[in-house]
Amino acid sequence: MAKETLNPFEIAQKQIKSACDKLNADPAVYEILKNPMRVLEVSFPVKLDDGTVKTFVGYRSQHNNAVGPFKGGLRFHPDVTKDEVKALSTWMTFKCSVAGIPYGGGKGGMAINPKEYSKAELERISKGFAKAISPIIGEKVDIPAPDVNTNGQIMSWMVDAYEEVAGKSTKGVFTGKPLEFGGSLARTEATGYGVHLTAKKALEKLNIDVKGATYAVQGFGNVGFYTAYYAHKDGAKIVAFSNTDVAIYNENGIDMEAVIKDFEENGRITANKGYGKDITNAELLELEVDVLAPCALENQITSENADRIKAKVITEGANGPTTPEADEILFKKGIIVIPDILANSGGVVVSYFEWVQNLQSYYWPFEEVQQKEDALLSTAFEDVWNLANEYKVDLRNAAYMKSIERISKAMKLRGWY
Ligand code: GLU
Repeated sequence: MAKETLNPFEIAQKQIKSACDKLNADPAVYEILKNPMRVLEVSFPVKLDDGTVKTFVGYRSQHNNAVGPFKGGLRFHPDVTKDEVKALSTWMTFKCSVAGIPYGGGKGGMAINPKEYSKAELERISKGFAKAISPIIGEKVDIPAPDVNTNGQIMSWMVDAYEEVAGKSTKGVFTGKPLEFGGSLARTEATGYGVHLTAKKALEKLNIDVKGATYAVQGFGNVGFYTAYYAHKDGAKIVAFSNTDVAIYNENGIDMEAVIKDFEENGRITANKGYGKDITNAELLELEVDVLAPCALENQITSENADRIKAKVITEGANGPTTPEADEILFKKGIIVIPDILANSGGVVVSYFEWVQNLQSYYWPFEEVQQKEDALLSTAFEDVWNLANEYKVDLRNAAYMKSIERISKAMKLRGWY
Protein backbone atom coordinates (compact mmCIF):
# COMPACT_ATOMS: atom_id res chain seq x y z
CA MET A 1 0.00 0.00 0.00
CA ALA A 2 1.26 3.46 -0.86
CA LYS A 3 2.26 5.49 2.18
CA GLU A 4 -0.63 7.68 3.35
CA THR A 5 -0.36 11.39 2.64
CA LEU A 6 -0.16 13.75 5.60
CA ASN A 7 -0.51 16.81 3.38
CA PRO A 8 -3.71 18.39 4.73
CA PHE A 9 -4.72 19.88 1.38
CA GLU A 10 -4.44 16.52 -0.40
CA ILE A 11 -6.47 15.00 2.45
CA ALA A 12 -9.19 17.66 2.07
CA GLN A 13 -9.40 16.95 -1.67
CA LYS A 14 -9.70 13.20 -1.00
CA GLN A 15 -12.55 13.80 1.44
CA ILE A 16 -14.48 15.95 -1.04
CA LYS A 17 -13.92 13.45 -3.85
CA SER A 18 -15.13 10.55 -1.73
CA ALA A 19 -18.39 12.34 -0.85
CA CYS A 20 -18.96 13.57 -4.42
CA ASP A 21 -18.57 9.98 -5.66
CA LYS A 22 -21.01 8.64 -3.08
CA LEU A 23 -23.54 11.32 -4.06
CA ASN A 24 -22.98 10.64 -7.73
CA ALA A 25 -22.57 14.40 -8.08
CA ASP A 26 -22.10 16.16 -11.42
CA PRO A 27 -18.30 16.05 -12.14
CA ALA A 28 -18.37 19.87 -12.27
CA VAL A 29 -19.03 19.96 -8.52
CA TYR A 30 -15.70 18.33 -7.60
CA GLU A 31 -13.96 20.23 -10.36
CA ILE A 32 -15.01 23.52 -8.74
CA LEU A 33 -14.59 22.49 -5.10
CA LYS A 34 -11.15 20.87 -5.37
CA ASN A 35 -9.28 24.20 -5.25
CA PRO A 36 -9.67 27.45 -3.31
CA MET A 37 -10.95 30.34 -5.44
CA ARG A 38 -8.14 32.63 -4.29
CA VAL A 39 -4.99 32.32 -2.17
CA LEU A 40 -3.22 35.52 -1.22
CA GLU A 41 0.37 35.51 0.03
CA VAL A 42 1.53 38.69 1.72
CA SER A 43 4.77 39.87 3.23
CA PHE A 44 5.07 42.97 5.31
CA PRO A 45 7.76 44.62 7.46
CA VAL A 46 7.48 45.07 11.22
CA LYS A 47 9.79 47.07 13.50
CA LEU A 48 10.86 44.88 16.42
CA ASP A 49 11.52 46.23 19.93
CA ASP A 50 15.31 46.17 19.39
CA GLY A 51 14.99 48.54 16.43
CA THR A 52 15.57 45.91 13.71
CA VAL A 53 13.07 45.24 10.94
CA LYS A 54 11.71 41.79 10.16
CA THR A 55 9.54 40.73 7.24
CA PHE A 56 6.61 38.46 8.03
CA VAL A 57 4.89 36.20 5.51
CA GLY A 58 1.19 35.39 5.80
CA TYR A 59 -1.59 33.77 3.80
CA ARG A 60 -5.32 34.14 3.35
CA SER A 61 -7.08 31.42 1.39
CA GLN A 62 -10.65 31.88 0.15
CA HIS A 63 -12.05 28.51 -0.80
CA ASN A 64 -15.63 29.07 -1.94
CA ASN A 65 -18.27 31.79 -1.55
CA ALA A 66 -21.25 30.28 -3.38
CA VAL A 67 -23.34 30.25 -0.19
CA GLY A 68 -22.10 33.50 1.38
CA PRO A 69 -18.97 35.49 2.35
CA PHE A 70 -15.76 33.57 3.07
CA LYS A 71 -15.41 32.80 6.77
CA GLY A 72 -12.71 31.30 8.95
CA GLY A 73 -9.91 31.91 11.40
CA LEU A 74 -6.33 33.14 11.34
CA ARG A 75 -3.68 30.83 12.78
CA PHE A 76 -0.29 31.81 14.30
CA HIS A 77 1.84 28.66 14.53
CA PRO A 78 5.39 27.76 13.46
CA ASP A 79 4.10 24.86 11.32
CA VAL A 80 1.69 26.95 9.21
CA THR A 81 2.17 26.38 5.45
CA LYS A 82 0.29 27.53 2.38
CA ASP A 83 -1.11 24.02 1.87
CA GLU A 84 -2.30 23.85 5.47
CA VAL A 85 -4.12 27.17 5.11
CA LYS A 86 -5.66 25.99 1.82
CA ALA A 87 -6.90 22.81 3.53
CA LEU A 88 -8.26 24.70 6.52
CA SER A 89 -10.14 27.11 4.23
CA THR A 90 -11.59 24.16 2.33
CA TRP A 91 -12.79 22.53 5.55
CA MET A 92 -14.47 25.84 6.53
CA THR A 93 -16.66 25.82 3.40
CA PHE A 94 -18.08 22.43 4.35
CA LYS A 95 -18.23 23.25 8.08
CA CYS A 96 -20.39 26.32 7.48
CA SER A 97 -22.69 24.40 5.17
CA VAL A 98 -23.14 21.41 7.50
CA ALA A 99 -24.24 23.81 10.22
CA GLY A 100 -26.53 25.63 7.79
CA ILE A 101 -25.05 29.10 8.23
CA PRO A 102 -24.81 31.52 5.27
CA TYR A 103 -21.05 31.50 4.72
CA GLY A 104 -18.40 30.02 2.48
CA GLY A 105 -14.94 29.06 3.69
CA GLY A 106 -11.72 30.96 4.28
CA LYS A 107 -8.64 30.66 6.47
CA GLY A 108 -5.39 32.45 7.01
CA GLY A 109 -2.22 32.18 8.97
CA MET A 110 1.40 32.97 9.57
CA ALA A 111 4.28 30.63 10.40
CA ILE A 112 5.29 32.32 13.64
CA ASN A 113 5.57 31.40 17.29
CA PRO A 114 3.74 34.22 19.08
CA LYS A 115 5.58 33.38 22.33
CA GLU A 116 8.80 34.72 20.78
CA TYR A 117 7.43 38.28 20.59
CA SER A 118 6.59 40.97 23.12
CA LYS A 119 3.00 42.18 23.40
CA ALA A 120 3.88 45.40 21.57
CA GLU A 121 5.53 43.43 18.74
CA LEU A 122 2.53 41.10 18.50
CA GLU A 123 0.27 44.14 18.18
CA ARG A 124 2.36 45.50 15.29
CA ILE A 125 2.51 42.06 13.61
CA SER A 126 -1.28 41.58 13.93
CA LYS A 127 -2.03 45.06 12.61
CA GLY A 128 0.48 44.59 9.76
CA PHE A 129 -1.13 41.31 8.78
CA ALA A 130 -4.66 42.78 8.90
CA LYS A 131 -3.59 45.70 6.69
CA ALA A 132 -1.84 43.36 4.26
CA ILE A 133 -4.98 41.24 3.74
CA SER A 134 -7.37 44.22 3.95
CA PRO A 135 -7.87 44.45 0.15
CA ILE A 136 -9.62 41.07 0.12
CA ILE A 137 -11.52 40.98 3.45
CA GLY A 138 -14.63 42.83 4.64
CA GLU A 139 -17.86 42.47 6.63
CA LYS A 140 -19.70 41.16 3.55
CA VAL A 141 -16.66 39.71 1.77
CA ASP A 142 -14.44 37.61 4.03
CA ILE A 143 -14.66 37.52 7.82
CA PRO A 144 -11.64 36.21 9.78
CA ALA A 145 -11.75 34.97 13.39
CA PRO A 146 -9.46 33.41 16.00
CA ASP A 147 -7.83 30.02 15.46
CA VAL A 148 -4.77 28.32 17.00
CA ASN A 149 -2.80 30.90 19.09
CA THR A 150 -4.97 33.89 18.15
CA ASN A 151 -7.59 35.46 20.40
CA GLY A 152 -9.92 38.37 21.12
CA GLN A 153 -7.07 40.82 21.74
CA ILE A 154 -5.52 39.99 18.37
CA MET A 155 -8.94 40.38 16.68
CA SER A 156 -9.34 43.82 18.32
CA TRP A 157 -5.97 45.01 16.98
CA MET A 158 -6.94 43.73 13.57
CA VAL A 159 -10.33 45.49 13.63
CA ASP A 160 -8.52 48.71 14.52
CA ALA A 161 -6.09 48.33 11.62
CA TYR A 162 -8.85 47.39 9.19
CA GLU A 163 -11.11 50.29 10.24
CA GLU A 164 -8.22 52.68 9.66
CA VAL A 165 -7.98 51.44 6.07
CA ALA A 166 -11.78 51.31 5.58
CA GLY A 167 -12.37 54.72 7.16
CA LYS A 168 -15.52 53.62 8.96
CA SER A 169 -16.76 51.50 11.86
CA THR A 170 -17.14 47.94 10.66
CA LYS A 171 -16.65 45.58 13.59
CA GLY A 172 -18.38 42.66 11.84
CA VAL A 173 -15.27 42.19 9.67
CA PHE A 174 -13.73 40.02 12.42
CA THR A 175 -15.49 37.72 14.89
CA GLY A 176 -14.28 36.25 18.17
CA LYS A 177 -13.88 39.75 19.58
CA PRO A 178 -13.93 40.50 23.33
CA LEU A 179 -17.34 41.34 24.82
CA GLU A 180 -16.37 44.97 25.42
CA PHE A 181 -15.51 45.35 21.73
CA GLY A 182 -18.51 43.93 19.89
CA GLY A 183 -18.08 40.27 20.87
CA SER A 184 -20.90 37.86 21.62
CA LEU A 185 -21.68 36.16 24.88
CA ALA A 186 -21.07 32.38 24.68
CA ARG A 187 -18.49 32.76 21.84
CA THR A 188 -15.50 31.84 24.03
CA GLU A 189 -17.22 28.65 25.19
CA ALA A 190 -18.84 27.89 21.81
CA THR A 191 -16.43 25.45 20.16
CA GLY A 192 -15.89 23.20 23.19
CA TYR A 193 -19.61 23.37 24.01
CA GLY A 194 -20.36 21.94 20.56
CA VAL A 195 -17.57 19.35 20.68
CA HIS A 196 -19.11 17.92 23.85
CA LEU A 197 -22.72 18.37 22.65
CA THR A 198 -22.11 16.30 19.52
CA ALA A 199 -20.27 13.62 21.56
CA LYS A 200 -23.24 13.50 23.96
CA LYS A 201 -25.60 12.97 21.01
CA ALA A 202 -23.45 10.09 19.76
CA LEU A 203 -23.37 8.55 23.26
CA GLU A 204 -27.20 8.75 23.32
CA LYS A 205 -27.32 6.82 20.04
CA LEU A 206 -25.10 4.15 21.61
CA ASN A 207 -27.27 4.07 24.78
CA ILE A 208 -24.34 5.19 26.93
CA ASP A 209 -25.26 7.53 29.77
CA VAL A 210 -23.18 10.72 29.63
CA LYS A 211 -23.17 10.64 33.46
CA GLY A 212 -20.07 8.64 34.29
CA ALA A 213 -18.94 8.35 30.65
CA THR A 214 -15.13 8.60 30.43
CA TYR A 215 -13.42 11.32 28.35
CA ALA A 216 -9.81 11.81 27.22
CA VAL A 217 -9.04 15.25 25.80
CA GLN A 218 -5.93 15.93 23.70
CA GLY A 219 -5.10 19.64 23.51
CA PHE A 220 -6.14 21.88 26.37
CA GLY A 221 -6.42 25.33 24.86
CA ASN A 222 -9.78 27.06 24.48
CA VAL A 223 -11.41 24.15 22.61
CA GLY A 224 -10.14 21.26 24.75
CA PHE A 225 -10.76 23.09 28.01
CA TYR A 226 -14.40 23.90 27.26
CA THR A 227 -15.00 20.39 25.90
CA ALA A 228 -13.87 18.99 29.26
CA TYR A 229 -15.71 21.75 31.16
CA TYR A 230 -19.11 20.96 29.62
CA ALA A 231 -18.55 17.18 29.75
CA HIS A 232 -17.77 17.55 33.46
CA LYS A 233 -20.87 19.71 33.92
CA ASP A 234 -22.95 16.88 32.43
CA GLY A 235 -21.49 14.38 34.90
CA ALA A 236 -18.89 12.77 32.61
CA LYS A 237 -15.57 11.62 34.07
CA ILE A 238 -12.51 13.35 32.56
CA VAL A 239 -9.78 10.72 32.92
CA ALA A 240 -7.07 12.36 30.81
CA PHE A 241 -6.00 15.59 29.17
CA SER A 242 -2.82 16.91 27.57
CA ASN A 243 -1.25 20.03 26.13
CA THR A 244 2.31 20.88 25.05
CA ASP A 245 3.40 21.00 28.72
CA VAL A 246 1.59 18.05 30.34
CA ALA A 247 -0.24 14.76 29.64
CA ILE A 248 -2.14 13.46 32.65
CA TYR A 249 -4.16 10.31 33.34
CA ASN A 250 -6.28 9.51 36.37
CA GLU A 251 -8.50 6.44 36.07
CA ASN A 252 -10.72 7.66 38.91
CA GLY A 253 -11.38 10.94 37.14
CA ILE A 254 -9.33 14.12 37.29
CA ASP A 255 -10.39 16.70 39.89
CA MET A 256 -11.97 19.07 37.39
CA GLU A 257 -12.90 21.72 39.96
CA ALA A 258 -9.17 22.14 40.68
CA VAL A 259 -8.29 22.10 36.97
CA ILE A 260 -10.95 24.71 36.16
CA LYS A 261 -9.63 26.98 38.91
CA ASP A 262 -6.03 26.50 37.69
CA PHE A 263 -7.03 27.24 34.07
CA GLU A 264 -9.09 30.30 34.97
CA GLU A 265 -6.30 31.73 37.14
CA ASN A 266 -3.37 31.04 34.79
CA GLY A 267 -4.93 30.86 31.32
CA ARG A 268 -3.48 27.38 30.79
CA ILE A 269 -2.31 24.30 32.69
CA THR A 270 1.47 24.39 32.88
CA ALA A 271 2.17 21.64 35.46
CA ASN A 272 0.69 18.44 36.83
CA LYS A 273 -0.36 19.60 40.29
CA GLY A 274 -1.19 16.10 41.49
CA TYR A 275 -4.03 15.73 38.98
CA GLY A 276 -2.98 12.17 38.11
CA LYS A 277 -0.03 10.28 36.69
CA ASP A 278 2.06 11.54 33.79
CA ILE A 279 1.55 9.74 30.48
CA THR A 280 2.55 10.48 26.88
CA ASN A 281 0.41 12.01 24.18
CA ALA A 282 0.48 8.73 22.24
CA GLU A 283 -0.76 6.84 25.30
CA LEU A 284 -3.59 9.33 25.79
CA LEU A 285 -4.91 8.65 22.29
CA GLU A 286 -4.96 4.90 22.93
CA LEU A 287 -6.79 4.92 26.28
CA GLU A 288 -9.87 2.79 26.76
CA VAL A 289 -12.47 5.57 27.09
CA ASP A 290 -15.99 6.30 25.92
CA VAL A 291 -15.03 9.59 24.27
CA LEU A 292 -11.71 10.69 22.81
CA ALA A 293 -11.59 14.39 21.90
CA PRO A 294 -8.53 15.33 19.79
CA CYS A 295 -8.51 19.13 20.18
CA ALA A 296 -4.95 19.98 19.10
CA LEU A 297 -3.62 19.81 15.53
CA GLU A 298 -3.80 17.73 12.32
CA ASN A 299 -2.74 14.12 11.72
CA GLN A 300 -2.93 12.72 15.24
CA ILE A 301 -4.80 9.54 14.30
CA THR A 302 -3.17 7.90 11.28
CA SER A 303 -2.89 4.41 9.79
CA GLU A 304 -0.01 3.94 12.24
CA ASN A 305 -2.07 4.13 15.46
CA ALA A 306 -5.73 3.82 14.34
CA ASP A 307 -5.77 0.11 15.05
CA ARG A 308 -4.87 0.73 18.69
CA ILE A 309 -7.59 3.33 19.35
CA LYS A 310 -10.06 1.99 21.90
CA ALA A 311 -12.49 4.90 22.33
CA LYS A 312 -16.12 4.33 21.36
CA VAL A 313 -16.64 7.88 20.10
CA ILE A 314 -14.10 10.32 18.68
CA THR A 315 -15.22 13.95 18.58
CA GLU A 316 -12.85 16.14 16.58
CA GLY A 317 -12.27 19.46 18.33
CA ALA A 318 -9.23 20.02 16.10
CA ASN A 319 -9.39 20.44 12.34
CA GLY A 320 -8.06 17.43 10.46
CA PRO A 321 -6.86 15.20 13.34
CA THR A 322 -7.74 11.95 11.50
CA THR A 323 -6.34 10.85 8.13
CA PRO A 324 -8.57 9.16 5.50
CA GLU A 325 -6.69 5.86 5.97
CA ALA A 326 -7.32 6.02 9.72
CA ASP A 327 -10.99 6.82 9.04
CA GLU A 328 -11.34 3.55 7.14
CA ILE A 329 -9.75 1.53 9.93
CA LEU A 330 -11.91 3.20 12.60
CA PHE A 331 -15.09 2.69 10.55
CA LYS A 332 -14.32 -1.04 10.24
CA LYS A 333 -13.74 -1.20 14.00
CA GLY A 334 -17.17 0.38 14.60
CA ILE A 335 -15.72 3.50 16.24
CA ILE A 336 -17.90 6.57 15.68
CA VAL A 337 -15.94 9.58 14.45
CA ILE A 338 -17.79 12.89 14.65
CA PRO A 339 -15.91 14.83 11.98
CA ASP A 340 -14.31 18.23 12.61
CA ILE A 341 -16.66 19.97 10.19
CA LEU A 342 -19.56 18.97 12.45
CA ALA A 343 -17.99 18.50 15.91
CA ASN A 344 -16.17 21.83 16.10
CA SER A 345 -18.64 23.91 14.08
CA GLY A 346 -20.00 25.52 17.26
CA GLY A 347 -17.22 28.12 17.06
CA VAL A 348 -18.13 29.43 13.65
CA VAL A 349 -21.85 29.09 14.44
CA VAL A 350 -21.50 31.54 17.32
CA SER A 351 -19.19 33.67 15.17
CA TYR A 352 -22.17 33.91 12.85
CA PHE A 353 -24.38 35.01 15.76
CA GLU A 354 -21.74 37.59 16.71
CA TRP A 355 -21.76 38.92 13.14
CA VAL A 356 -25.57 39.10 13.07
CA GLN A 357 -25.51 41.00 16.38
CA ASN A 358 -22.82 43.36 14.99
CA LEU A 359 -24.86 44.09 11.87
CA GLN A 360 -27.93 44.83 14.04
CA SER A 361 -25.97 46.55 16.84
CA TYR A 362 -28.26 44.64 19.16
CA TYR A 363 -26.92 42.04 21.62
CA TRP A 364 -28.45 38.86 22.98
CA PRO A 365 -28.18 37.20 26.43
CA PHE A 366 -25.82 34.23 27.01
CA GLU A 367 -28.61 31.64 27.25
CA GLU A 368 -30.20 32.80 24.01
CA VAL A 369 -26.92 32.47 22.10
CA GLN A 370 -26.18 29.04 23.54
CA GLN A 371 -29.73 27.80 22.89
CA LYS A 372 -29.46 28.94 19.27
CA GLU A 373 -26.11 27.13 18.97
CA ASP A 374 -27.61 24.01 20.51
CA ALA A 375 -30.54 24.08 18.08
CA LEU A 376 -28.36 24.40 14.95
CA LEU A 377 -25.87 21.74 16.03
CA SER A 378 -28.56 19.28 17.13
CA THR A 379 -30.33 19.54 13.78
CA ALA A 380 -27.03 19.18 11.91
CA PHE A 381 -26.08 16.12 13.98
CA GLU A 382 -29.42 14.39 13.34
CA ASP A 383 -29.30 15.13 9.60
CA VAL A 384 -25.76 13.79 9.30
CA TRP A 385 -26.55 10.73 11.44
CA ASN A 386 -29.58 9.86 9.30
CA LEU A 387 -27.69 10.39 6.05
CA ALA A 388 -24.89 8.10 7.28
CA ASN A 389 -27.42 5.36 8.01
CA GLU A 390 -29.20 5.85 4.72
CA TYR A 391 -26.00 5.59 2.63
CA LYS A 392 -24.17 3.21 5.02
CA VAL A 393 -21.19 5.55 5.23
CA ASP A 394 -19.25 7.09 8.10
CA LEU A 395 -20.24 10.44 9.58
CA ARG A 396 -17.45 12.28 7.75
CA ASN A 397 -18.73 11.21 4.35
CA ALA A 398 -22.28 11.99 5.45
CA ALA A 399 -21.32 15.47 6.70
CA TYR A 400 -19.58 16.25 3.41
CA MET A 401 -22.56 14.87 1.48
CA LYS A 402 -24.99 17.07 3.37
CA SER A 403 -22.94 20.19 2.77
CA ILE A 404 -22.13 19.36 -0.85
CA GLU A 405 -25.86 19.08 -1.55
CA ARG A 406 -26.32 22.63 -0.31
CA ILE A 407 -23.22 24.17 -1.92
CA SER A 408 -23.85 22.48 -5.25
CA LYS A 409 -27.41 23.85 -5.32
CA ALA A 410 -26.11 27.38 -4.68
CA MET A 411 -23.44 26.98 -7.37
CA LYS A 412 -26.05 25.65 -9.83
CA LEU A 413 -28.39 28.58 -9.13
CA ARG A 414 -25.51 30.99 -9.74
CA GLY A 415 -24.87 29.31 -13.08
CA TRP A 416 -21.38 28.07 -12.17
CA TYR A 417 -22.09 24.76 -13.88
N1 GLU B 1 -11.14 28.92 13.77
C1 GLU B 1 -12.42 28.33 14.05
C2 GLU B 1 -12.66 27.15 13.14
O1 GLU B 1 -11.75 26.51 12.68
C3 GLU B 1 -13.54 29.36 14.04
C4 GLU B 1 -13.74 30.07 12.73
C5 GLU B 1 -14.72 31.23 12.80
O2 GLU B 1 -15.30 31.47 13.85
O3 GLU B 1 -14.86 31.89 11.76
O4 GLU B 1 -13.77 26.74 12.93
